[in-house]
Amino acid sequence: RTVYLNGEYVPEEEAKISVFDRGFLFADAVYEVTAVVNGKLVDFAGHFARLARSCRELGLSLTLSENDLREIHQRLIAENDLTEGGIYLQLTRGNSGDRDFHFPPSQTPTTLVLFTQSRAVVDHPAASKGIRVVTCPDIRWQRRDIKTVQLLAPCLAKAWAEANGADDAFLVEDGFITEGSSCNCYIVTADKTIVTRPLSNNILHGITRKALLRLGEEHGITFEERLFTPEEARRASEVFISSATTFVWPVVSVDGQQIGDGKAGEITKLLRSIYLEMVE
Ligand code: PLP
Repeated sequence: RTVYLNGEYVPEEEAKISVFDRGFLFADAVYEVTAVVNGKLVDFAGHFARLARSCRELGLSLTLSENDLREIHQRLIAENDLTEGGIYLQLTRGNSGDRDFHFPPSQTPTTLVLFTQSRAVVDHPAASKGIRVVTCPDIRWQRRDIKTVQLLAPCLAKAWAEANGADDAFLVEDGFITEGSSCNCYIVTADKTIVTRPLSNNILHGITRKALLRLGEEHGITFEERLFTPEEARRASEVFISSATTFVWPVVSVDGQQIGDGKAGEITKLLRSIYLEMVE
């Protein structure tokens, strides 16, 4: 694989980062993952806008423009013959030259890394079969709206899910589901309303979520943004998730409780097909 590191396109074995890089020592870094379908980026403008916001919130300088970054993404797609999968981007506050909590001087160069990941997105088996989720406490920090690389809590949540025979975890805070370990969550009520948690600092502002709300409005599908509990999820007629790596996946059980008939629900399938239509 050819990867991008600070202006160079190099074989992955040759890409080297300092042990003093703040991304490594302090998780002082932000990231984005943009899907690729048919060799094309999905909603790059949305991902760039969120990256710029994450940088502003943390006082990280983003010196490249939207067009510069789009070109880097496109060159990596070409160099790696990527037709379907994603591109991971990480920007760190660079190298302090030592381990020091204080931010380095503002002119310190940041570290920018991008790499491609080839995988099925459109025909992923989980998109038709669905996934099983379990709930667990949300132990993350209070600025989940910033897309930082502090991902130990989601890693622990996924390990918890695996240990409990599930594919993923829904995180719970103060009795309500915040989001999934790496996705936004939705339930469908008996009157066919899609419920999802409103935006705040408690969840990541998903780019896929934003697109689904817009597409829903265009197609007369009703969304309601409000909190919901694990119990409501277990009793819902449908449950699903969204993210740039999954688009829309059905959830067929929550905490061992089967959802509906244990298969992908009609509204979930409809939303996924509307989203795929937009992508393709
Ligand atoms: N919530 C969390 C915690 C995530 O990690 C992600 C994506 O990785 C999402 C939500 C979904 O966001 P997006 O649709 O922008 O991928």
